Amino acid sequence: MVRIGVISVQGDVSEHLISAKRAMEDFGIVGEVVAVRRLRDIEGVDALIIPGGESTTISRIMKREGLMDRIRELHEERDIPIMGTCAGCIILAKEARDGEVDGLKLMDMRVRRNAFGRQRESFETSVEVEGFDSPFHAVFIRAPIIEAIWGRCRAIAKLNDRIVGAVDGRKIALTFHPELTSDYRFHRMFLEMI
Ligand code: GLN
Repeated sequence: MVRIGVISVQGDVSEHLISAKRAMEDFGIVGEVVAVRRLRDIEGVDALIIPGGESTTISRIMKREGLMDRIRELHEERDIPIMGTCAGCIILAKEARDGEVDGLKLMDMRVRRNAFGRQRESFETSVEVEGFDSPFHAVFIRAPIIEAIWGRCRAIAKLNDRIVGAVDGRKIALTFHPELTSDYRFHRMFLEMI
């Protein structure tokens, strides 16, 4: 029985709750997906998803609720898998440029917020992903890019020469939104980390 928690303070929470549930069903994994708003909701969670939205708002509320400290503890104690998409990617990064985000700082990477500029605020395109046999249709919405990685963090998805996906141990950061399509290959990667 696997329990996936979705940080549910702001952003595209319901899409993540639904897609995580569908991905589990597709892969025959028995378990549940729970919304994490308060500290008590996170107990018993085996893995965590941090959705897209506004990283400044999400990180502020997570801190206020004591979730930042608790997640860092769960990382230290059990190295729980975490997948962060878009704003969630920013919250996972050690460093974030362009706006103050006091995040989890669990992945060895530097991200730049809203990196595609006004002209290309939102767009959809195919990205090449390491280990996938065909490209992934990726939805970008006011997306960050991963400007630099170091340590054991490695790039797994690129758009032209820019890094849009990375893995560091049992943490996955994507600058786009896999929860908005029914392609669950990133969810599979994430679920396999549990
Ligand atoms: N631009 C947002 C931020 O900086 C992220 C956008 C998103 O999550 N779709 O937090």
